[in-house]
Amino acid sequence: MRVLVTGGAGFIGSHLVERLLQEGHLVIVLDNLSGGGLENLQAVRDHPRLRLLIGDVTDPVALRHALEGAEWVFHLAAVVGVPRVLADPLQTMRVNIWGTEMVLRACAERGLPVCLASSSEVYGKGVRWPAVEEDDLRLGPPTAPRWIYAVSKLLDEHLAMTWARRGLRVSIVRYFNVYGPRADPEGYGYVIARFMDQALRGEPLTVYGDGRQTRSFIYVEDAVEGTMRAGFFPVAAGSIFNIGRAEEISIRELAEKVRAITGRLVPIRSLSLPEVYGPDFEETPRRVPDTSRARTLLDFEARVTLDEGLRQTWEWWRECRRG
Ligand code: UDP
Repeated sequence: MRVLVTGGAGFIGSHLVERLLQEGHLVIVLDNLSGGGLENLQAVRDHPRLRLLIGDVTDPVALRHALEGAEWVFHLAAVVGVPRVLADPLQTMRVNIWGTEMVLRACAERGLPVCLASSSEVYGKGVRWPAVEEDDLRLGPPTAPRWIYAVSKLLDEHLAMTWARRGLRVSIVRYFNVYGPRADPEGYGYVIARFMDQALRGEPLTVYGDGRQTRSFIYVEDAVEGTMRAGFFPVAAGSIFNIGRAEEISIRELAEKVRAITGRLVPIRSLSLPEVYGPDFEETPRRVPDTSRARTLLDFEARVTLDEGLRQTWEWWRECRRG
């Protein structure tokens, strides 16, 4: 099939592109290289079934061009990562809301199935953990810019659901803290990428706040598997799926694990949240997925343990970064 991946040069996008190529698809990538980069596609750049288009999803001409001949769409292009969102809130809303509206409308007009990338961030502070897809959502106020990303993705989900009621075949994946090779420590600010980078440089690991906040991490290959199933399985149409792994770990424990796995015995340094993100920042204290729906409908379960995933990520880090 001819599959369009918007954001295909990004962290998750590039892994999805590799997987789709492996499965024999022709892959069209539309990416403006604002978050990801061509180096993410290095292994497949000369692949005969890859078409790479540098352009913005909010540009109607670029989008039309990318959709020419496409039979399936994975929409991952977005401004992501807390630091990026805080650095440019207007661009975040423009790309994440308007861009998605354009992609969904175009897919509806052409009758193209689409899988939309959303985020566990939409659960916000959460009403209960593990979170189920139909749970109520609890976001902070608009005076705290952190929630811009969650609101933009939530609006995307509403757009998708509205188009689904009008006959569009669309599924939604809510990613829970994906990590692995190519995650960008500066751009996205992902904590595991930052810790690996710091360990490699021999710098202290920076734990924000008291480090008791928890997250559940999923290795990127698992996240891609879940995305493929949510994207292609007919049963997924019209549904939202938590794509995560229900092993919960505090950020302080994570820092200790990274030290143990990398063997770099760097100190752990605590930084207060206002020091890092400014006075109005709100932290998400906990985040764990309920993964029953993906297991039941998609027969999907994340396989890679955190220890194994961290080892693989570290291996990549040492080979491909400055180590
Ligand atoms: N974090 C940290 N040190 C860092 C980067 C992040 O302690 O250098 C914390 C952050 O405050 C959050 C968790 O790690 O509690 C995950 O952060 P990330 O930005 O990866 O994703 P989030 O789940 O917050 O969207």
